[in-house]
Amino acid sequence: MPEPTVRFLGGVREIGGNKILIEDGPDRVLFDFGPSFSPRIEEYYRDYLQPRSTAKAKDLLEFDLLPRIPGLYSRESLADSDLAYTEPEVHAIFVSHAHADHAGYLDLVDPAIPIHVGEGTRTLLSAIETSTRMKYGTHPWRVFADRTPIWVGGIEVIPYPVDHSIPFAYGFIVRTRGGTLAFFEAVGKEQVDALLIEGTRAGPDARRNLSEEGVRVGVDRILDSEDQLAFACTYPRDIDRLTTLYAAAVDADRELVVSVRTAHLLTQVAPRFPAGMLPIPGTSPGIRVYARKKRTSYLWERPYLEAALSSAEVRANGSKYLLSLELSHFAELIDLRPPSGSPFIHSMSEPFSEDDVDDHVMHNWLSHFGLAFHQMHASGHASGPELLEIIRATGARTVYPIHTTHPEALEAAGPSVHPPELGVAYALTRAR
Ligand SMILES: [Zn+2]
Repeated sequence: MPEPTVRFLGGVREIGGNKILIEDGPDRVLFDFGPSFSPRIEEYYRDYLQPRSTAKAKDLLEFDLLPRIPGLYSRESLADSDLAYTEPEVHAIFVSHAHADHAGYLDLVDPAIPIHVGEGTRTLLSAIETSTRMKYGTHPWRVFADRTPIWVGGIEVIPYPVDHSIPFAYGFIVRTRGGTLAFFEAVGKEQVDALLIEGTRAGPDARRNLSEEGVRVGVDRILDSEDQLAFACTYPRDIDRLTTLYAAAVDADRELVVSVRTAHLLTQVAPRFPAGMLPIPGTSPGIRVYARKKRTSYLWERPYLEAALSSAEVRANGSKYLLSLELSHFAELIDLRPPSGSPFIHSMSEPFSEDDVDDHVMHNWLSHFGLAFHQMHASGHASGPELLEIIRATGARTVYPIHTTHPEALEAAGPSVHPPELGVAYALTRAR
């Protein structure tokens, strides 16, 4: 039998878009399947120009933005494309966490292929499907438990919980008939032959970064010194950050005001956390829902809208609230008319480049309304020095940096570091 191999079909010299195929004899398992955030896809598709929903695979294949893996895609998604449909040849897909760049192409997958996720990720994905336009398709969903092995033919996969900016994130240990491979920090005490490491923050990175505790201290300082309406902007699924903002608001005798979508997400995932850990709108004190001006509401939104705050109420009693406001909802500022100098806490990554269009637009709005900008974020990714430390500590014989635009920056950790090439099959062999 040929040696087991690992192939990188995405996430190579780009952030996001991991698509890692492990083949061992007849067994084939894919890890993560979503679009990358940068930079190649943006050469063809931008906000205003997206693949057609009726021909998503075809439109992505046109520019080789999807890997041509036989037996992965559904008959329906390949219809009319130049890739012929074949019966499933991939036997399972494991999704590490619910971020779009890891799960966003599942809707293209053959409905016969089982998708393995953590229980919490399954909950998150359905909450996202209900409250956004995102769709993940119909599949046999298999829910795994922490540290409990799953066998796919002769391949053994063991999921380990890891810390990330979305809850229920996992790394994996994968044992093949050849070597053992670990994804991210899932290594523990195990001696692995190959390590896959994400390098989002490898290479030059001048962006400011705090710890979660540091964010809390910063938010406290602002809420203590200001008595007008305060704003915060976070990633919509960063539950840790929402919890930090909630605690800071309550301590400052304010209420955290969230969007209907965030209210739905918190309500859905709260039962997966220890009781009382997450605030639930409508149940917990100190958290309210903001009602944007909309012509109609969806069924899932209605339970949250009854006691929701209007812009007029928030405007009249600004000092009582910390309003979580996404960039896409900035038009609400026109109704909210915050007093000049009101604080705006940007609790997300700073942009990578100085000509980031979204960042430009955000700052135009902030200066139009005279809001005071504060950058306060704790990244869900390890820093460059931390990555080098992890690589040295694991002692893996081969280290493949993925999910990074600077894989070679990690070569400083030693000769084991090997930036992978897109689509090349690397043998997984055991140390002897
Ligand atoms: Zn992620």
